[in-house]
Amino acid sequence: MFYFDHAATTPVDSRVLQKMLPYFTENFGNPNSQHAYGRRTAAAVDEARDTVASLIGAKPNEIYFTSGGTESDNWALRGAAHANAERGKHLIVSAVEHPAMISTAKELQKEGFEVTFAAVDEFGRVDLQKLKDSIRPDTTFIGVMTANNEIGTLQPIAEISALARERGILFFTDAVQAAGALKLNVKEPAVDMLSFSGHKFYGPKGVGVLYVRSGVRLGKIITGGHQERSMRGGTTNVPGIVGLAEAFRIANEEMAQNNAHVSAIRDRFIARVLHEIPYVKLNGHPKDRLPNNANFSFRYIEGESLLFSLDLAGIAVSSGSACSSGSLEPSHVLLATGLPEGLAHGSIRFSFGKENTAGQIDIAVEKLKEIVVRLRNLSPLFPKELKNEVYDKEIK
Ligand SMILES: *Cc1c(COP(=O)(O)O)cnc(C)c1O
Repeated sequence: MFYFDHAATTPVDSRVLQKMLPYFTENFGNPNSQHAYGRRTAAAVDEARDTVASLIGAKPNEIYFTSGGTESDNWALRGAAHANAERGKHLIVSAVEHPAMISTAKELQKEGFEVTFAAVDEFGRVDLQKLKDSIRPDTTFIGVMTANNEIGTLQPIAEISALARERGILFFTDAVQAAGALKLNVKEPAVDMLSFSGHKFYGPKGVGVLYVRSGVRLGKIITGGHQERSMRGGTTNVPGIVGLAEAFRIANEEMAQNNAHVSAIRDRFIARVLHEIPYVKLNGHPKDRLPNNANFSFRYIEGESLLFSLDLAGIAVSSGSACSSGSLEPSHVLLATGLPEGLAHGSIRFSFGKENTAGQIDIAVEKLKEIVVRLRNLSPLFPKELKNEVYDKEIK
């Protein structure tokens, strides 16, 4: 079995698990408690907060722990929209944001906010001129992700940060896919808020971070006790937070060697697929993309059938995005890049990880070639005059 779906989630690194385990058993205290049990876990959470803050150039009191990327995205967008509503009710988010942002923006539209979904180019990069033109005097928030979860495209966030700064508009970036793969620094480029999530970099699920620059006006979305400096109620997820910080520390420490390995096997995969399988398009930017992402449209094939055949062959991938699988809607990201609906339906995301090997890539390419020929043979969409074969152009 080969797991090529690291953009959906990753396994917990064994070193991370070891660090978490005591916080499920002997160190179970509630960090809010006024006794030794509480003090011990409060110290662990403080240490995790310091670790995360120092790795992104933030102050510890600018770090909020949440239940994951979805909550952090919701909080940034909804919390900023509400807290700044008297200044204006226009929000800008890119058209290729994660559903955590897109659906929150749509909810805010129902509440009377106006939202511009900023257009992207054919590679999925935000069009800076169009973004600039959409800014209005009542714009309070711009949200553009650092890297896209479906096609891996990196966004020009330095330019967008500068645009937002000049006009006094809050700038938020969803760095869920970027965290662990790219160095993040909240001052370079300057961001007001930034989100990431433990389970995308070999940490646990159900725990995330929202960085909020001190001075930013942000409302609460989860009300309760005085946890997280009274900004987010709920008993602290101590093992999760300890695990997230340890996973983030390891990911940053080992980033160079992991990226070198992952991008080498990813590049080999892309090169072989494009050379050996006809009628295939690589989606996303050819160079400015995450090191682990390869997203292809296989013409004349349904992405879902390709996914199921690969699954039967023991290869785990994703069609469109994990969050929209189960629905037959073509990916909003691919449509925003101008990809025709047919090609968007035939798209598959391969996202590699540190435990994948070049040997797995080569086996996967051979299986993929067989499956593509078989599915095209069955496909009524495949034109009879085309030759259904693969090319023998293997590159060493
Ligand atoms: C996975 C993901 C999220 C959601 O994070 P969860 O922790 O799974 O809720 C948000 N944004 C992007 C870009 C993601 O890839």
